[in-house]
Amino acid sequence: MAYLTFDKDEEGFDDWVKSHSFGIVINSSPGKLNPNYIKAHRPECYSIQRHASAKTVYSKHCFDDANEAIEYLEGIAFPRPSFGCTTCKVSALEPTIDVQQLEKSVKKLLAEGFSSTPSGNRKPARVPFLSTTLIQRDPAVVAWVLKEANGKCDLCTADAPFLTNDGRPYLEVHHVRTLASGGPDTIDNTVALCPNCHRSMHYSKGKDALLEKIYIRIFRLIR
Ligand SMILES: [Zn+2]
Ligand SMILES: [Zn+2]
Ligand SMILES: [Zn+2]
Repeated sequence: MAYLTFDKDEEGFDDWVKSHSFGIVINSSPGKLNPNYIKAHRPECYSIQRHASAKTVYSKHCFDDANEAIEYLEGIAFPRPSFGCTTCKVSALEPTIDVQQLEKSVKKLLAEGFSSTPSGNRKPARVPFLSTTLIQRDPAVVAWVLKEANGKCDLCTADAPFLTNDGRPYLEVHHVRTLASGGPDTIDNTVALCPNCHRSMHYSKGKDALLEKIYIRIFRLIR
C-alpha cells in the first residue's frame, strides 16, 4: 500500500507516473479529497490537471492500483470513484464481475504494455448476482500473468494451442486457490494454463499432484 498525494510537486508526480502503469490517480477538490468529486484516471491521462497550466489545481491522490484506491476510499466511508474518464479509458483498470468487460480490459492492457506489477486483491469483492455471488477480478492481474507466461502453459510448458483473433496466444488464467474458497485475486495465486492443463487442475483424478507441480514450477505462488 502506498497512497501518495502530489500537490505542487509536478516532478515527483512525473516520476511516480513512470513506474505505475496500473496506478490510479484520483482528481478531487483543491487541497483535499471531496466525496462528491472523486474522478479516477490512469497515470498518463491528459485530463489530469497539471499545476503549470491551471489557476485552480485539483488535488491528485495516487494509488498503486484500482483495488488500493477503492479500499482506501471505503476505509474513510467515501463512495467509489468514477471510472468514467473517456480520455484514458480508466475503466480498463477497474475490477469487474463481467467476463466480457474483463476480456476487453485485458486486451487493452496487453496491447498498451506495462512496466509495473499489479498488487491485485487479497479479498476480491463479492457481488450478489441473481441467486448467486460473483467475485470481482482485476484485469491487471490477468494481463500480467498472461504476459509473464509468454505464450507457454505454466504447468506443461507447451506453447498455447492457438492464437486468438487478435493474435495473442490463447491461455486461461486459473486461481490456484479458487476465488470461491476465499483465494486471493493476486499474481501469487494465479497461473496461465493451456485448456487441457486447466481442466485437469479442476477435474483430474491426479489434481493434487498437479497442484504440487505448479507450486514447484512457479516461484511466485504463495500457498
Ligand atoms: Zn482520464
Ligand atoms: Zn498445459
Ligand atoms: Zn481454473
